Amino acid sequence: APASTLPAPTEPTEPITPLAGRERPQLLSVVMPAYNEARNLSWLLPRLVEELSPHAQALELLVIDDGSRDDTVMVVRGLIRQGLPVRLLRLSRNFGKEAALTAGLDAVEGDVVISMDSDGQHPISCAIKMLERWREGYDVVYGVQKGRRESQSLARRLYTRVFYWLMQKGSRFELPADAGDFRLLDRAVVLALRQLPERARYMKGLFAWVGFPATGIEFIPDARAHGETSFKFMGLLQLAVTGITAFSKVPLRVVSALGIVVSLLSVVFGFWIVFEKVFLGNEISGFATLAASITFLAGVQLLCLGIIAEYLGRVFDEVKRRPLYVTQDLTPSLRKPAVSDP
Ligand code: UDP
Ligand code: MG
Repeated sequence: APASTLPAPTEPTEPITPLAGRERPQLLSVVMPAYNEARNLSWLLPRLVEELSPHAQALELLVIDDGSRDDTVMVVRGLIRQGLPVRLLRLSRNFGKEAALTAGLDAVEGDVVISMDSDGQHPISCAIKMLERWREGYDVVYGVQKGRRESQSLARRLYTRVFYWLMQKGSRFELPADAGDFRLLDRAVVLALRQLPERARYMKGLFAWVGFPATGIEFIPDARAHGETSFKFMGLLQLAVTGITAFSKVPLRVVSALGIVVSLLSVVFGFWIVFEKVFLGNEISGFATLAASITFLAGVQLLCLGIIAEYLGRVFDEVKRRPLYVTQDLTPSLRKPAVSDP
């Protein structure tokens, strides 16, 4: 598996010597896409402020409201009124987590940015460990979900393996398996991500594509405090197709290879029929063979067309150049305006 070539995530063993200028970030930002997370945010945001404040000179918790239908906006506004360093970016409707995360990364102002779910599944203690690795000089620290594989069904694991194989075939960057959207990014990485123009947001792939020194930290996700996950099997399949069509041409090559193989086989079969008739004197029968091969090949052709159509759909989406999300409003920056001389 390609993932095995990556250095295993390790805990620092020696006391860390922070890189110059990385002792304590001036502004630490947390980007949190939220869809119907009122109940979770109401306890998570105060805890984040409490636990992260000692690690930065200033804090910015940017909540992206992805068209929530509950009180998410009210809860966040209430916390802002209480004076918490929270900002709210409201999207005009539900655009999906990947778009919400992109919106957050476009608006965020911190020198260090941590992206985290709003449901409390990403432990704050792990975010603090990520900061330690950043101080050592890593620009990207991604969270690796521990014990994820063991809990998955065989079919799911197989599907994951095929997915990573397809994604990694012939690419120059490594996509860490089991890494999710819980990660720390240095400002340089955020700026690099903003330059990627594509509509297809397979964030994990984009994070890997931009490069920069990266390392992983294992974590055990906490249970979701309230509500339930909004990701279902079909959604994950959709994301996998987005990932593959955005990063890999392997399926297209498989289609070409299949064409060559089928053509060669049919030539061999043609020669065999002539041979059978001329040299063995067998009468050519075979309505069954004919019917079976026609339906089989029609199936193969439709499948190949479907694969090509997925790529065509990708091109269609890209050429429209629609924005990825629409912002309804955004609370002002928390950075102190520069004091100008009187
Ligand atoms: N989320 C979002 N938009 C959506 C669905 C989810 O912003 O359309 C957010 C959600 O509020 C949470 C994060 O994405 O903060 C992860 O979602 P969830 O917990 O449902 O997924 P899981 O943890 O199962 O991967
Ligand atoms: Mg969750």
